[in-house]
Amino acid sequence: MILPQVTRQSESKLVTAYGEFRMIGFKGQDSKVPIITLVCGTPTDLEWPLVRLHSKCTTSEAFGSCQCDCKEQLDISMRRIHEEKSGVIIFLDQEARGNGLSAKLKIYQEMQDYNLTSDKACEQLGLPIDSRKYDEAAAILFDLKLRQVRLLTNNPEKVNTLINCNICVERERIQVKPNKYNYAYLMEKQCRHNHDMGLQPLPDLESVLTLL
Ligand SMILES: [Zn+2]
Repeated sequence: MILPQVTRQSESKLVTAYGEFRMIGFKGQDSKVPIITLVCGTPTDLEWPLVRLHSKCTTSEAFGSCQCDCKEQLDISMRRIHEEKSGVIIFLDQEARGNGLSAKLKIYQEMQDYNLTSDKACEQLGLPIDSRKYDEAAAILFDLKLRQVRLLTNNPEKVNTLINCNICVERERIQVKPNKYNYAYLMEKQCRHNHDMGLQPLPDLESVLTLL
């Protein structure tokens, strides 16, 4: 796979509740906004540094929505990387599986009005179920001189893309505890998108599964 061009635009320190990161703004070919990349420590010193490719989610990350697991996955990744004192988070502007924020608001309305899962709401609205790409993230990993990584993800698509870009990948699952508001969404990811969520059917929420 030929990698897209990414160029460094800015670099500064970012102090967070988890600790300090180096924040690098990359300009990609596709993205209109900088691809923010947080680097902790010196990942090239490790044989298999931790890496998270994270797609932006305004509803959970800005407002604390309980209807998905995005913020929790980001929090776990930042904590894990700081525990190891090394690693990278690449924050991709791919809201609503690449459909964007305006589409997301419509998807949420469709889900609520017709009691649909997110996949079915996308189908009803004629939107792709997942159009996210990870090749710019792979190009950033090359820029950072990382050719083998431990990827924090449940999503086999991310693993496959990096492997196709000649990056060696070991996967580390992110285990998120479901709640009654995100259970159908997480189960949909597990059952229809083959995400390795490690979820068991919950007897009190079994009726949700008929929606999938
Ligand atoms: Zn989300």
